[in-house]
Amino acid sequence: MITLRGLTKRYGDTVAVDGLTLDVEEGRVTGFLGPNGAGKSTTMRMILGLDRPTAGRALIDGRPYASMRHPVREVGALLDAKALHPARSARSHLIAQARSNGIPVRRVDEVLETVGLAKVARRRAGAFSLGMYQRLGIAGALLGDPPVLILDEPVNGLDPDGVRWVRELVRAQAAQGRTVFLSSHLMSEMQLTADRLVVIGRGRLLADTPMADLLATSASASVRVRTADPADLSALAGRLRADERVTVESPGGGRNEIVVRGRTAAEIGDLAHRLGIPLHQLHSVSASLEQAYMELTEGSVEYGAAASPRPRVPVGSVPTATTEG
Ligand code: ADP
Repeated sequence: MITLRGLTKRYGDTVAVDGLTLDVEEGRVTGFLGPNGAGKSTTMRMILGLDRPTAGRALIDGRPYASMRHPVREVGALLDAKALHPARSARSHLIAQARSNGIPVRRVDEVLETVGLAKVARRRAGAFSLGMYQRLGIAGALLGDPPVLILDEPVNGLDPDGVRWVRELVRAQAAQGRTVFLSSHLMSEMQLTADRLVVIGRGRLLADTPMADLLATSASASVRVRTADPADLSALAGRLRADERVTVESPGGGRNEIVVRGRTAAEIGDLAHRLGIPLHQLHSVSASLEQAYMELTEGSVEYGAAASPRPRVPVGSVPTATTEG
């Protein structure tokens, strides 16, 4: 488990991380999201003892990183995949890490096999593609078989096959009871990978929630309602619209179907029952993570395009992955 208590980092006038208090629990994948400049990397660096907090603390299984004798066996981290000597081979890079942490060389060959680099293990890492660097970084994180994994943008630069491989790997690690904390800008991928989400903006905590709860309570979540009789549908829509917190859209003129936001399927079903209206369909549509994330971080985007109103995502459209915070 990773524990943050009032974790704060200031650089001069910039408050990079502002009083973060949260627990990243074992046995699940926790996604770490936020716009560019939100403070994600700084938070990860403080957890890993690379930056000193201005206030508060970050503990891994109850201890600060700096107090660990063999940190690679306690926490595996991937922060900057390219941070290695380009003239070294993948294997000798990992062997150096293994030796300084009392890990046998056979474990190096094991993790090279796991990440799919066994065949290129003796090649200069300097000639690697970004995807290969990422795989090597993940090999380094797995080296000490640690109970905690911290991965900053691990799928950056990977092809679809690699992205899927990382997803399955981290989910398997969490299923074994490990703590997995990972950041990504790929919302659709995060939606498939994480069980829980921590969202920050301008250094502050915006959400710390199970994925399912975030998607279900998003303002973009909707319910599709169908009746056989257009008059019934219109009567139901009228009653729903009486509450100003509820929006009702009528795709195709609303003769057969309405799309309701601001009421759950159960509430709409109960209302229809009270009005004596038979329903032919009542279908909840969760928001996409991208939609929920945009709602949460509105106002926290440090480097956004000027005066670009966010387009409403039409109902039923396929959410696209975003590559920028
Ligand atoms: P993220 O990883 O979410 O993109 P960062 O943690 O990199 O965000 O940055 C958070 C804020 O702290 C930004 O405003 C960034 O400019 C600032 N920052 C990060 N590192 C430094 C540093 N070494 N010196 C000064 N400011 C920094």
